Amino acid sequence: MHHYARSSNEVLRKRGYRLTPQRHMILSVIQEAHEHLSIDQITERVQQRNPYVSLSTVYRTLELLRELGLVRENHLLGEQSHYEAVDSQAHHHLVCRHCRATIHLDDALLGNLHEQLQTQYHFHQMTLDLVAAGYCETCWQQQQQSEQVSENTAALSEEPSEEPSKEQ
Ligand SMILES: [Zn+2]
Ligand SMILES: [Zn+2]
Repeated sequence: MHHYARSSNEVLRKRGYRLTPQRHMILSVIQEAHEHLSIDQITERVQQRNPYVSLSTVYRTLELLRELGLVRENHLLGEQSHYEAVDSQAHHHLVCRHCRATIHLDDALLGNLHEQLQTQYHFHQMTLDLVAAGYCETCWQQQQQSEQVSENTAALSEEPSEEPSKEQ
C-alpha cells in the first residue's frame, strides 16, 4: 500500500471510519491524478474502475475525506470545486486566466512568509493558500501573436478610409 493510502487509512481509523474499497478507490483516483479534478472527473475515473459507484457516493465520500483533511477542495478563480490529495502543508497555485492551467508554486519562494505572518499579525494555525492569476507561457505567446495580427489588420483597414479625402 502506498504511503498516502496507508496514512489515510490511519486517519480514517482514528476517527472511527474504515477504509472501504470505495473510499480507497476514490482516494487513489485523486492521488494518482497529480492535478485538480472536478467531481465529474473523479466520478468518471472511479466509474471506469467500478461502474456501480454512484455520484452520490462520490459526493458523500469527498465530503468525508475533506472533513478529515485528506482531500483539499479548491475554488480557483471562481470555477467549480476541484479536489486534490493533501500531501503537504503549503499550497499555492499559479492559475492561467485563459486555459486554466494550474501550477503549484514552490513554497520555498515564499521564504519565511508563514512565520512572519505569525509573528507580525499574531495569527495562528494559519492555512495559507495563495492564488496568482496570470497567463501561462503558451497562452501569453498566442495572445502576443493575435495582438500583432489585429494591429496589422487595423493598419490595413485604415488605408481605404483615406481615399475619399484624396478624391476631394
Ligand atoms: Zn494558459
Ligand atoms: Zn493544488
